[in-house]
Amino acid sequence: METAGFDIVSYYKEGEYIQMNFLEERIVKDGIVKSGNVLKVDSFLNHQMDIALMEEIGREFKRRFGHKTVTKVMTIEASGIGIAAFVAKEFGVPMVFAKKSKSINIDGDMYVAEVESFTHKNKNQVIVSKKFLHPEDHLLIIDDFLANGCALQGLISIAESAGSTIEGLGIVIEKGFQIGGRVIRNLGYHLESLAIVDAMDAKTGTITFRAQEGQ
Ligand code: 5GP
Repeated sequence: METAGFDIVSYYKEGEYIQMNFLEERIVKDGIVKSGNVLKVDSFLNHQMDIALMEEIGREFKRRFGHKTVTKVMTIEASGIGIAAFVAKEFGVPMVFAKKSKSINIDGDMYVAEVESFTHKNKNQVIVSKKFLHPEDHLLIIDDFLANGCALQGLISIAESAGSTIEGLGIVIEKGFQIGGRVIRNLGYHLESLAIVDAMDAKTGTITFRAQEGQ
C-alpha cells in the first residue's frame, strides 16, 4: 500500500488507536472550533501562514496528483492563493486565481461565475480573464476549505467555460459533514482532501477525522 507523504503521529485515546497525519496533528494543536460549523485555522493556514507547512502541503498535492498532466493551478481569492502558490511551484506551472468582483459591468474578456461565501454568507461574482485559461489547459483546482462546495462549483464552471480539462481538485481541509465533498465526487471529479473533518464540537473543541487510505 502507498504510504502517506506526511509524518504519521499515532496514539491511543479512550481505548481507540488514532493515527493523524502532519496536518491533522496541526489542526488538533492550533485549530479552533467555532459555532456555525466554522473551523478557525488562521494561526497557520489562512491569515498567518506557516511556510514550512505550506511547503509540505505543496509536496503532498504533488504526490497525490503528480501522475496527472497539470499545466496550471487554479484557485479563488483570498485564502486559496497562498496554498495554490506552493502547489504550483511543485508542479512548475503558473497559478491563476479567480478574483471577486463587485462590478456588474464585466466585459466579455472574462469568465464569470457566481459564488456564495460560506463564511460571509454573501454572493460574489468571481472572474478569470480569458487570457489565462485555454482549452488546452489541464487544471488542478486548489482551495483551503471545502464546505458546501460553492467555491469549487464556481471554479469548475469557469474551467468548463474555458474548455479547460479539470485533472483534479485538491482541498486542504474538507468538512466531511457538509455536502460539498459528496457533490463534487458524485460529479465524477478526482477530489483529494488532506484532512477530512467528520465531526467537530464547538463546546468541547473536539475534532474527529475520517481515516484515509495510507494512514
Ligand atoms: P464552500 O464554498 O465549499 O461552502 O466553502 C468553501 C469556502 O468557504 C472556502 O474557500 C473557505 O474560504 C471558506 N470556508 C468554508 N468553511 C470554512 C471554515 O470552517 N473555516 C474557514 N476558515 N473557512 C471556511
